[in-house]
Amino acid sequence: MLNHNKCPLCGSGDIILLYECTDYLVSGEKFPVYRCRSCTFIFTNNIPEEKEAARYYQSEEYISHSDNNNGLVNSIYQYVRRWMLSSKLRMLKKESGLVKASVLDIGSGSGYFPAYLINKGWECQGIEISKEARHYAGERNNIGLKPPEDINNFENSSIDIVTMWHTLEHFYQPGEYLGSSYRILRDKGLLVIALPNHQSYDARKYREEWAAWDVPRHLWHHNIDTIKLLCDKYGFKLKSIYRLPFDAYYVSALTEKNKKSSIPLIKGFTTGFISWISSILIKRNTSSLVYIFRKD
Ligand SMILES: [Zn+2]
Repeated sequence: MLNHNKCPLCGSGDIILLYECTDYLVSGEKFPVYRCRSCTFIFTNNIPEEKEAARYYQSEEYISHSDNNNGLVNSIYQYVRRWMLSSKLRMLKKESGLVKASVLDIGSGSGYFPAYLINKGWECQGIEISKEARHYAGERNNIGLKPPEDINNFENSSIDIVTMWHTLEHFYQPGEYLGSSYRILRDKGLLVIALPNHQSYDARKYREEWAAWDVPRHLWHHNIDTIKLLCDKYGFKLKSIYRLPFDAYYVSALTEKNKKSSIPLIKGFTTGFISWISSILIKRNTSSLVYIFRKD
C-alpha cells in the first residue's frame, strides 16, 4: 500500500481527510480521499502498489463497456459514444486550426478514439497499459495500440496533439506522461486532458458517494486550479476549457445505482439535467471538463 503523508502536487504537509470512499465497482473496499489545504488538490490515499493495481480493474466495464446493442440503455450509450467522438474531433480541429493532424492518444482503452480519427483521415497512434484492452482494440476496432514504454520511441517534436481522455487520473506517474508529451509535441502543440470535476454540481450533491471518485482507480482528483498547477510544472499553458455534457447523466445514474436507489435512471437523469443546466452558466459546475493546454 502506498501512503502519501504530504501533498503529491505542492509538497505541503497540511493535508486532511475529506471522505472515506467505497470502491463500488470491484472490491467493495474503502479508501480515504485527502485534500491539501494549501493548493486544494485532492488525492486518494493508501492506494494499492502499482503492481497490485490490475486486480482493481477486473471488471468488464473497464474493457469493452458494452458493445452489444441490446436494450435501450446500450443503444443510448452507443449513440452518445458516436456523438462524443465527433464532438471531440470538432474540438481538436477548432483548437489546433488544423484540418488534419497527427495525434497520440494516451490511455486508449478499446481504441475507439484512435480508430475514429484514422477513419476520418487523421494520423493517430494509441498507448494502452492493459494487454486485454490492446487485444480487444485489435479485434473490435482493428487498431494496434502500443504498450506504455513505447512512448520513448516517439521522436522529439513529432506530434501535433496529445490526448488523455479520462486517463491522467489513473496514472501512477502522471509526470512521466506529461514530460514525454512535452518532448514529443511540436512547438505550440496541444495537450488535451479530460477529467472528472469534483467541484461540479453532481459531486457536491453526492459527496462521498459520487461515482467519479472511483477509488482506488482514480488516484488524483483535479479542479481547474490544480490541473493548471500540475501542467505548468511541465511547460504547458492553459488555453481553453470545454464542458463534457453527457458525463453528468452517466455519473449521476451510476451514483444512484451504487446507492441502490429504487429508480436510479430517473433520479440520475434528474440530477444530471440540473448539473448540465447549472454548468451552462458556471463552467465549474460541470461534471467533467476538457482542458486544452499548449506547449509553451
Ligand atoms: Zn498541495
